[in-house]
Amino acid sequence: MTAVTDSLPDLRAMTLADAEALAVASGWPRFRGEQVWRWVHDKGARGFDEMTNLNAATRESFAKVARIGCLEVAEVQTSKDGTRKLRLTTRDGASIESVLIPMGEHVTQCISSQVGCAVDCQFCATAKLGLKRNLDAGEIVDQVYLGRRLLAEADPTARISNIVYMGMGEPLHNYDNLVASLRILTDDKGAKLAHRRITVSTSGLVPKLEKLGNETDVRPNLAVSLNAPNDAVRDRIMPINRKWNIGKLLAALKAYPLEQRRRITFEYVLLAGVNDSLADAGQLAKLLRGFKCKVNIIPYNPHPEAEYERPSPAQVEAFQNECKRLGLSTYLRLPKGDDIDAACGQLANRSNGSPVVPLRVRKKAELPPPPPVE
Ligand code: SF4
Repeated sequence: MTAVTDSLPDLRAMTLADAEALAVASGWPRFRGEQVWRWVHDKGARGFDEMTNLNAATRESFAKVARIGCLEVAEVQTSKDGTRKLRLTTRDGASIESVLIPMGEHVTQCISSQVGCAVDCQFCATAKLGLKRNLDAGEIVDQVYLGRRLLAEADPTARISNIVYMGMGEPLHNYDNLVASLRILTDDKGAKLAHRRITVSTSGLVPKLEKLGNETDVRPNLAVSLNAPNDAVRDRIMPINRKWNIGKLLAALKAYPLEQRRRITFEYVLLAGVNDSLADAGQLAKLLRGFKCKVNIIPYNPHPEAEYERPSPAQVEAFQNECKRLGLSTYLRLPKGDDIDAACGQLANRSNGSPVVPLRVRKKAELPPPPPVE
């Protein structure tokens, strides 16, 4: 894994406390750090020259000790259902994707946490990129700022109401940058997003789940990509299960300190003939009995790199009905943006159907090895 290096620290990746500390270390009053930080994280400045209430000498001095990292918008694709996929380029030329999903009156933005992913879920297109590197906190939050900018261009009153860390990458595999980005996005003096409006999705990195539960200043919602009713199926479609199996995962989730009135979301990608039978629904209901949770049922979104199929609508309905009959709270997540490869599990830097970055094609293993994640 290669890292981006730069001699100057990036204001976009700093928490407010970091920016204040930088100001003090540079011989300026603390409030200068806040002033500059607010320009970046509250007012959306993308360069020092936009900080119009600072005189030129102050702006120049700051530019000598810090930079403002910016992603570039390489492409915006729009789905027939209104979903928009942003392909973004980092300063070292890597490609990542972020998706703006209209949900009635609201817009949810799905953001990426890594360039590619190491976790290797067998049904996921991002997995075929492999892991190139972690995104830093600035690259994570700038997706939100660019999303806001794009929305405002079309309608100045439009707002992003929810952020989901469900794009490229496993957020908990990039733990420190994940937590820093959450601190930045929820700061009352910056992006001002409510904790309850942010969801972090994980494939189940148990030690990091425990760590996240112990953070006192970040309290996102949790979504867990479960996708199987037993270890035999999960071992096959999610190799991470061979490191932390369903028993260990559920034990960690039971111990997770949930805020009052919140529930864990379990995501369940329905794969025809793999995990979609009524017996699977029965096992799933038994597994999750007693959990404060809901299950998002996601009919598989096809892409060329995986051989799975989406179950028929009748099978999806039967599976959901069986879950409901057995007492599970379920929500059917119908595909959004699948015509531009923007739906769940399809993100792989594709433009008009073709990958702009080569995808890794591996021989089909009988049982994929566990991923190299800690
Ligand atoms: S589903 Fe998420 S964790 Fe699994 S390979 Fe894809 S991006 Fe990674």
